[in-house]
Amino acid sequence: MPNEHVSFFDQVNRNFDRAAAYTSHPSGLLQIIKTCNSVYHFTFPLERDNGEVEVIHAWRAEHSHHKLPTKGGIRYSLDVNEDEVMALAALMTYKCAVVDAPFGGAKGGIKIDGKKYSKHELERITRRYTFELVKKNFIGPGIDVPAPDFGTGPREMAWIVDTYTALANDKLEGAACVTGKPIAQGGIRGRTEATGRGVAFVTREVCSVAEDMKALGLSPGIAGKRVVVQGLGNVGSYAATFLQEMGATIVGLLEFDGGIYDPKGLDAQAIVNQWNALRRGEKSMQKLVLPDGIQKLANPADGLELDCDILIPAALENQITDDNVAQIKARIIVEGANGPVTSGASEALDGRGVLVVPDHYANAGGVLVSYFEWLKNLAHVRFGRLERRFEEQAYRRILEAIAVRTGKSFSDDELRALAHGADEADLVHSGLEDTMGPAYHRLREIRAQHKVDLRTAAFIEAINKIAICYQDLGIFP
Ligand code: NAD
Repeated sequence: MPNEHVSFFDQVNRNFDRAAAYTSHPSGLLQIIKTCNSVYHFTFPLERDNGEVEVIHAWRAEHSHHKLPTKGGIRYSLDVNEDEVMALAALMTYKCAVVDAPFGGAKGGIKIDGKKYSKHELERITRRYTFELVKKNFIGPGIDVPAPDFGTGPREMAWIVDTYTALANDKLEGAACVTGKPIAQGGIRGRTEATGRGVAFVTREVCSVAEDMKALGLSPGIAGKRVVVQGLGNVGSYAATFLQEMGATIVGLLEFDGGIYDPKGLDAQAIVNQWNALRRGEKSMQKLVLPDGIQKLANPADGLELDCDILIPAALENQITDDNVAQIKARIIVEGANGPVTSGASEALDGRGVLVVPDHYANAGGVLVSYFEWLKNLAHVRFGRLERRFEEQAYRRILEAIAVRTGKSFSDDELRALAHGADEADLVHSGLEDTMGPAYHRLREIRAQHKVDLRTAAFIEAINKIAICYQDLGIFP
């Protein structure tokens, strides 16, 4: 049966079943892990700025309560439906397990095209959505903690925390009810760019394994790798700019209404700056002012088939399907988005020796830094606040002692660079890098042990970690 007829949630479950066959857990336990625990579908009226009234459909799915709170983004998109939020919530469960973020998986969505609503309308929608979640106990620091996703960002998270705190009886932990907030509302430095930065770390790590690169016909290292990125939103824009900083050559950038391509390399940062400067509702690839020699693509779907080493789909699900998989030329696909490659297309790519780095590992940087933000909110203190100055002074004393012993003093610039206590941003980046890199090598080991693809390896890893939670309860042997 072609994948297009298989629902998104069924595709996630198909990947789950393939991996479950390599584990020895009882089928009842596997059923518990796989099932989506709760889905709340609700509607509410919106009075638009012009006085017209429309009915808004919204969802929140909590896939697994094996760890609490549950965690997952909220998206604003016309494609949102019950199946989609359940599939995305399930992916969150497996993602959190792979990177050891102690949450069950959840996801929410509102079926709107955010570009068609004014700021005030979006605020009313977001606050009403939060109110409905509070009423039904689907949000709270120890219950379910949303975050940004497609079509939402720090602004929406600020409206959520404000509404939640106004309604909550216990206001002390209120800030921990949502992550991805602006810094002044209890957000953490590094969260906005975390998913894209994580995607870049993952891509660099993948390219660093000489043996794998040889098998793919590529040289080791990120330098000079030709990369195409789909989506210039939160994930794609940061992934492209960080990869360029790491030495990759960004040859293609794709958006909803077109794409641009230059085999010699694009200036990703300059293009992202132009894109971000366009007002919401007026964004269009056709409006970019580009240097000569850059090829424009009218159809963004054609961009997925461009000649490149690495393709990073970072927009939406179901982008690489049975229909276009044969035309994909990339040797490595890093899933910045959730579910961009259908399960059938993923099998076909694996059969052709293409390395697909699965979503529930590749884009886990966002939830990981959300975990740090949640911890910061519960602790009510910024990371590094207590120790940064102490560390800096300790390093200075060591450097001064070295200078006395050797008779060679350090310049002011050297002292500043070497005697640096870690601040919040340093610690967040360090925690992100320290998780994403080692996780990849664990997945490679599982892949080698079972002779499976990387997606199946990541599901095996997640299933085994979640199973332990139920085994510890004594329900299963
Ligand atoms: P976003 O809304 O910031 O950006 C998405 C971008 O994709 C937008 O610029 C949009 O115009 C573009 N787009 C839409 N349709 C397109 C098409 N057909 N071709 C090319 N571009 C298109 O969303 P985001 O937060 O970057 O999320 C993107 C994906 O990453 C989603 O699948 C989301 O679930 C996943 N994700 C996001 C985060 C996060 O922290 N934001 C974390 C993990 C996974």
